[in-house]
Amino acid sequence: MAGSFDTDIIAAVATAQGRAGIGIVRVSGKDLSHFATQLLGTAPPARLATRATFRGAKGEPIDDGIALFFPAPASYTGEDVLELHGHGGRVVLQMVLGRCLELGARLAGPGEFTRRAFLNEKLDLAQAEGVADLIEAATEAAARCALRSLRGEFSSLIRDLGRQLVELRALVEATLDFPEEEIDPLDREDARRRLASLRRETARALARGRAGSVLRNGLHVVLAGQPNVGKSSLLNRLAGEDLAIVTAIPGTTRDAVRQTIQLEGVPINVVDTAGLRDTHDAVEAIGIARAWEAIEQADAMLMVVDAREGVTAADVAIVERLPNRLRPVTIFNKIDLSGDAPRAEEKGKDWSIYLSAKTGEGIDGLREALLKLAGWQPEGGDVFMARERHLLALERVAEALKRAAETALRTELFAEELRLAQKELGSITGEVTADDLLGQIFARFCVGK
Ligand code: GDP
Repeated sequence: MAGSFDTDIIAAVATAQGRAGIGIVRVSGKDLSHFATQLLGTAPPARLATRATFRGAKGEPIDDGIALFFPAPASYTGEDVLELHGHGGRVVLQMVLGRCLELGARLAGPGEFTRRAFLNEKLDLAQAEGVADLIEAATEAAARCALRSLRGEFSSLIRDLGRQLVELRALVEATLDFPEEEIDPLDREDARRRLASLRRETARALARGRAGSVLRNGLHVVLAGQPNVGKSSLLNRLAGEDLAIVTAIPGTTRDAVRQTIQLEGVPINVVDTAGLRDTHDAVEAIGIARAWEAIEQADAMLMVVDAREGVTAADVAIVERLPNRLRPVTIFNKIDLSGDAPRAEEKGKDWSIYLSAKTGEGIDGLREALLKLAGWQPEGGDVFMARERHLLALERVAEALKRAAETALRTELFAEELRLAQKELGSITGEVTADDLLGQIFARFCVGK
C-alpha cells in the first residue's frame, strides 16, 4: 500500500452540472463533526437522513436540504463523509461548496474521493476503475460489465490466481536448497500440475478480459467492395431507422467515413472505404491511404459483393493486400435479385453471408456474425471489462508462466518467473502499484467521484 497520503478535508459538487431537483455536495476528511456543526448547527446523527439548513458564516441560510453523515470508517472513502443534498441549481450548489471551502475544505481533484477509498482499502484498484467505467459506460452491456468489476468479481478472480501462485511458489522455493535427487517426485509432479492449471486459468481470464474490452472500445470493422454493390444501403440497414447515421459530407466521399452503430449494446465502428483502388488522382490517393490506415487497425473486414457477380478479381486484389490476421466476412448482397437463399456460413475464420440490404433478408445472420466476431456473449456471459493495463499485465503473467514451464523446475530462474508473475497480478488490484500510475488512473475520473 502506498505510504503517507492526504487526509485534509476535500469537497466537491458530486452531481452533474445544470438544473436538477437535487444537487449533492460531498465532503470527506479525517474528522468532520466540527465542520458539520459550523455548517449545520449540529453534527447529524450517523447515517440518518436529517433535515438541515446549510448556513453561511454569519448564520444566514444558504439552502434547505438533507444532510447525511457517514462517520469513518463506514463510508465511501473510509474517512468521515458528509453529503449535503440541496437544490440542484448551479449557483446554489456553488454557494454551498464555497461555504465548505471557507470552513477549511479544499476542492477535490478528479477521482480524489475514490482514490481515498482505494488508499483506505475500501476497494482495490480494479474496483476503483470499475467505478469510473460504470460512470463512463455508453451501453447497457458495458454498464453491467463495469458493475461486476466494481463489485469485485474481476478482483477476486485475480486474487484467486495470485493465491494459487503463492502456493506454487512456496512449493518450489522450499525445494531450492535441496539437491535434485532429494526432491520427492510427487512434489515435482504436483508443481508441474499446478503450473499447468495456472496457465490455463490465466489464458481464460485473458480471453474473458479481451472479450469485455470490446464492450468499451467496440469492434472496428472495415467496409469494402466495389461501387454500387450496396455498401451504404447495408450500413443503413444495420444501423436501423432509429439510429442516426452520420452521412458523408459532400466532397469527402473519397475519404474513409466513420460511423458507429450499436448491436446489443456493443459499439461497432464501421469505416466505409469508398473506392479502394489504385489511382493517379492525388486527393483520392490521400483518401485511399487513410482507408488503408483504418484497415491496419481493424478487427474485421466486411467485403460486400453483388451476389449475382460473386467475388471479382478487384475484390480478390483487395483481400490479398489485407493484413494476415484480418479475415474478410464476404457479404453476398442483393439476393432478392440473385435468388440465393439467405444464410450465414462460417468456414474456419472466414464468413460468407447471403443477404439483401434492400429487403432485410439475411441481415440477422450478419448481426450474429458481427457479435460473434466481437466476442459478445448474451446476458450472463462472463466477460470482464478489463482495461488495457489489466490485459497487458495478464499477458505478462502468461508469458512468465510460459517461460517458467520451459525452465527446469528447481532453478532460481523458475522461482524468479513466478515472482514476476505474482508482481504483475498484484499490479492489477493495486497491491503493488507505483504512485505515478495511481495518479494517471484517478486523474481520468470526474471531480466529485
Ligand atoms: P454502394 O455504392 O456500395 O454504397 O451502394 P449503394 O448502397 O449506394 O447501392 C447501390 C444501388 O444498389 C442502389 O440503387 C441500391 O438501392 C441498390 N441496392 C443495394 N442493396 C440492394 C439489395 O439488396 N437489393 C437490391 N435489389 N438493390 C440493392
